[in-house]
Amino acid sequence: MKQILVLIILCNTILFSNAQNWDSLAKEAAKTEIYEPVPKIVTPGAFNITAPSDAIYLFNGKNLDEWVLTNNPSQKATWLVSNGMFTVNKKVGNIQTKRAFTNYQLHLEYMIPSNITGEGQLRGNSGLFLASTGGGDEGYELQILDNYNNKTYVNGQCGSIYKQFIPLANACKKPGEWQTYDVAWVAPTFNTNGTLKTPAKVTVYHNGVLIQNNVVLLGETRWIGTPYYKAHGACPIKLQAHGDNSEPISFKNIWIREL
Ligand code: MG
Repeated sequence: MKQILVLIILCNTILFSNAQNWDSLAKEAAKTEIYEPVPKIVTPGAFNITAPSDAIYLFNGKNLDEWVLTNNPSQKATWLVSNGMFTVNKKVGNIQTKRAFTNYQLHLEYMIPSNITGEGQLRGNSGLFLASTGGGDEGYELQILDNYNNKTYVNGQCGSIYKQFIPLANACKKPGEWQTYDVAWVAPTFNTNGTLKTPAKVTVYHNGVLIQNNVVLLGETRWIGTPYYKAHGACPIKLQAHGDNSEPISFKNIWIREL
């Protein structure tokens, strides 16, 4: 009986300290959250892009041969492919391209499932990392999130360059509808001693609406703390398996043109 009691107390202590830990991390993260100005809502027009002749297909509806697991790049990306699309597998984490890229034009389509639940950052959260500079969420994230009818800090809403640039408009479509990102990415360059030579720049269209207009990045995007650069060369492109409990989102028709 005594042993069981000790075990219960021990478990509660571990749970309590984990919760405390999470609270203090969340407090740190809140220091870089901004809530105004809220981007205006713009209803997108009809918009669809098929790949031009010189594009490389990163996903053509058949398989994930161009992708590997971010935290184990020798392993194939085991997200679920079916019906010409693929769906995030949160258990295996982020995936990234086998190939590395520098400057490019990229087209990607995603769909938040119509049965999506959750709120704030915990509703259809994923992300397109324009350059993956390391494991986990290292790199430069263009946020993917359901903000059709869902508020969060505006520098972390869909279309933000996470915690750096608020989108110029909220062009989100309803859950259940396919949405597009079209991106022009100019990679940063570095001096031989590792210091920044020229910063990264990005232009983004969301469902055909300009939402980031040649913004100059302050460094890699970070959940906690201020952004900074670390030297890198050509990088894979990464998709995020966010650790929230909401229903996983899907992707299709991803292609890239190197510049
Ligand atoms: Mg994200």
